[in-house]
Amino acid sequence: MWRRLRASESAGTIYDIDYDRLRALGKRALLFDVDNTLGERGMKTLPERSLRLVLSLVERGFRVGILTNRKRNADDPAVLTLREHIPVIHAAGKPRRSGFRELLAALDAAPEEAVMIGDRCLTDVLGANRLGIYSIQIRSTAARVTADRADPESESECLPTSTADRARRGGCHRGC
Ligand SMILES: [Mg+2]
Repeated sequence: MWRRLRASESAGTIYDIDYDRLRALGKRALLFDVDNTLGERGMKTLPERSLRLVLSLVERGFRVGILTNRKRNADDPAVLTLREHIPVIHAAGKPRRSGFRELLAALDAAPEEAVMIGDRCLTDVLGANRLGIYSIQIRSTAARVTADRADPESESECLPTSTADRARRGGCHRGC
């Protein structure tokens, strides 16, 4: 079980990821979570820096999509902004595989070409692992780092490297 909760790698924020390296690994499709990944949990407005990054990745030839468990909501400006540019799957039901498959189809990408980027091991990472999708777990929210006050408490407990490490971290609590 723990193996399935372990991301392929982790990153402080979406801005710390080496996307050129992912491309060199043969990755062509980037699946982004929204809350605590592109910005703060529950945000109404997408941080401009996040939108700029997403658009730059599209310009660089990546197929980019959004996979969120947020409910479909006509009054969700953060997600509506993204939908103007890239495919968005709402109410994805992560870690169920159906949402991942739906987004991969929209991006015309195979699982082995894709990377799931999100903060939660029980949804983003587990779902990706179930389909053999490379996963990157975000440790700190973009907004926190943008504010230049990264919170060490936000470091994920869901990246166990050993039994001792798991014990030290106290397991996968905090709804991660
Ligand atoms: Mg999230």
